Formats: sequence, C-alpha cells, structure tokens
Amino acid sequence: MQIAIDGPAGAGKSTIARAAAHKCGMIYVDTGAVYRAVAYALRQLGTDIHDEAAVRAALSGIKPGLAFSDGEQRVYVNGEDVTDFIRTPENSLATSCISAYPSVRAFLLETQRKIARENDVIMDGRDIGTVVLPDADVKIFLTASPECRARRRYAELAAKGEDITYEQTLAEMIQRDRDDTERAASPLRKADDAVLLDTSDMDLEQSVRAVEALISGGRK
Ligand code: C5P
Repeated sequence: MQIAIDGPAGAGKSTIARAAAHKCGMIYVDTGAVYRAVAYALRQLGTDIHDEAAVRAALSGIKPGLAFSDGEQRVYVNGEDVTDFIRTPENSLATSCISAYPSVRAFLLETQRKIARENDVIMDGRDIGTVVLPDADVKIFLTASPECRARRRYAELAAKGEDITYEQTLAEMIQRDRDDTERAASPLRKADDAVLLDTSDMDLEQSVRAVEALISGGRK
C-alpha cells in the first residue's frame, strides 16, 4: 500500500501523515527530512550550496539513511543521526535551494522508492505523487493558505525557542513556495489524479479524519 501526500511547506503534511499512519498501521516516511539531511551535510562540509557543480561533486561523500523505531523516523548521514539539527530556518532555505538541482533529486530517488517497495507507507514530500510513486494507491495534495501555514509554522518554531518573527516566517514560507513551485526539476504540483485537501479551515483532528477517509476509500 502506497499513499502519497504532497503539498507546500507548513500545510501540516507531516503531523497529519504521522497521525494517519499510526492509526492505519503504516510507516510514515518524511522525505523532506532526507533532503534536509543532505543540505545539512553539505553545509557541514562547507560546500557552496549555490554552486550546483560543487554540490553534485560533494554528493558522492554523503550517504543518507533512514531508520524507524516505534514508528518514528530518524535520518542519518554517513551513520550519524542528524534528525535534531535539520529543521532550523537556515537549513530550511538551504534545503529548498539544493532540492532544485536535478543531481540531488536523482541521488535521492531510489532511496525513496526502495523504502516504498519494502513497506506499507504514507510518504510525504513535494513530488511523491508525480515522480517518486506515480502508481500510488492514494494521492493527496494537502494545502492551506500561506498565512495559515506561516501561523502554524511560527507557533512550532516559537515553541522550540527559535528567534524568529511571524513576518519572517511568512516571508520564508513564500520564498520556499516560490523555490519549490518554480524549479524546473520535479516542481511542486498536484498530480492529476490527486485529491486536493485544503486544511485552512480544519483543525488537526478534522484534517487527520479527512486523510484517513481518503486512505480507507483507496483500500477498498
Ligand atoms: O517537507 P519539508 O518542509 O521538511 O521539506 C524541506 C524542503 O525539501 C522543501 O522545501 C523542498 O524544497 C524539499 N523537498 C523536495 N522534495 C520532497 C521533499 C522535500 O524538494 N519530496
């Protein structure tokens, strides 16, 4: 069983997909974390992330990996668990930048497909329904207004003690939307056969119920 959930930053994909996976007994795979881990590793190596050739050359020294324990995903680079370091605002912007490179996308494609071949998955990302799992059983495009997404993301970052304002969060959100939708390689877009779910006016519980209903519809 393969469930593909795509959508812009801050639409609640990970929270909703994690909860739905738990209830449906499936593995939740957050592909953004893998892109984030690669961006983090490149920054640690001192690679100029704006130079695609330099990034491409550095990829051979980066071995990303995922592990699941109690349904929780941990992401690794060269054996080191980097899960707790990849969600800073700087790393988010760096991730959007390197995700636009075809070399980075090709590098991570097989890693994602292999996990989906070996497990029942709910996989979230930007191009899961369009590129990674074009034959997924259910495809959902999850979205919400930019203001609503920025409000949610700001609350998350503020709770973690990040020094950032709502206005900065909104500006970064709009920048990432632009990076993700305007890139030539696998841009963020709704697959033709995906169901559009706008959660602007839904709370978390309503969103999870809506996703579960779509998944059980796809199981029949
Ligand atoms: O989902 P998350 O916000 O953690 O993803 C971080 C970034 O990784 C996104 O802004 C996007 O640029 C990139 N990404 C991608 N394709 C995916 C998942 C994430 O390009 N399948």
